Amino acid sequence: MAATARTFTGTPKNLAFLARRLKAGEIVAVPTETVYGLAGDATSSAACRRIFAAKGRPTDDPLIVHIASIKDLDRVAVANPEARKLAKAFWPGPLTLVLPKTGLVPDLATAGLPSVAVRMPSHPLFRKLIRLAGVPLAAPSANPFGYVSPTSAAHVARNLGKRIRYILDGGSSSIGLESTILDLRSPRKPVLLRPGAITKAELDRVLDRPVARPRKASSGARVAPGQMARHYSPRTRVVLHPGLTLEKAVRGPQNAAWLFIGRPGTLGRLPANVFWLDPLGDLKLAARRLFSVLRELDDGGFSSIHVERPSGGGIAEALLDRLVRAASR
Ligand code: AMP
Ligand code: MG
Repeated sequence: MAATARTFTGTPKNLAFLARRLKAGEIVAVPTETVYGLAGDATSSAACRRIFAAKGRPTDDPLIVHIASIKDLDRVAVANPEARKLAKAFWPGPLTLVLPKTGLVPDLATAGLPSVAVRMPSHPLFRKLIRLAGVPLAAPSANPFGYVSPTSAAHVARNLGKRIRYILDGGSSSIGLESTILDLRSPRKPVLLRPGAITKAELDRVLDRPVARPRKASSGARVAPGQMARHYSPRTRVVLHPGLTLEKAVRGPQNAAWLFIGRPGTLGRLPANVFWLDPLGDLKLAARRLFSVLRELDDGGFSSIHVERPSGGGIAEALLDRLVRAASR
């Protein structure tokens, strides 16, 4: 489908128009607090097929279904008490729950799995749009499959502008990393499928038991569908360095980019190929900027991108997860 995307602001008139397009089975790129999504009617196989096609996403990689209110959870999923507890604690917000699906959700949305991944986002424009559309919206990240996720309408237009028709601009994503995904199919054995801004410690606290990490994939087998090693990857080679220092960067190749989490060394001018995510190394702010900085460096003509490897728990775990995937070949 040859198309040129038009970007819409979130006026009531525009939201009503985009909701009508969604009801008609078309797809719309939407702002969320995690990353921009490519949304379509989650109850329509045809709409879901359009999402997979526009992204070039393999159909064995299931979509996340987004709802506007907790009471819609039962329309798409068979909830358990643990799911309700977590929904109450963290929704609206960046937590996705995997639960048995209902008949409303077509097999294509869940890649044929009997389970569905569901989330109630906090971005006000996205929630308004879901309400107006009157159906849950399936939405993976609005980028070509495998590339760095988009955190602004401009990122979406740049990558998918010729493959989709509608983009809703809701500003830069405030979190900047994809949601935490928790598998609650066996509610007594919750499994963290993807780390995100909602941390393992927060989940442990609300559930009053430690969530498990997925078993390590052996020889290329997938831990969870879609959680393949290479993902979120710039075209430029990414290399992670534990304990990266300014000295090392200065001694390294000058046509490479050196990306620190905080500003390395507080004084003096730094070489033009040295970058940082947040001046003070605040991990939340670093997460918010990670994907847009990776995109800029990817477009900057560098031979390779060398990144300080984040360490520690909490959101550092989510940053590390994305960077390890970006660096995987
Ligand atoms: P995203 O790429 O951000 O849209 O996240 C979607 C990811 O959620 C998929 O790649 C899977 O890892 C996970 N997921 C979605 N649906 C399911 C499901 N039914 N069961 C297990 N994992 C799922
Ligand atoms: Mg994605």
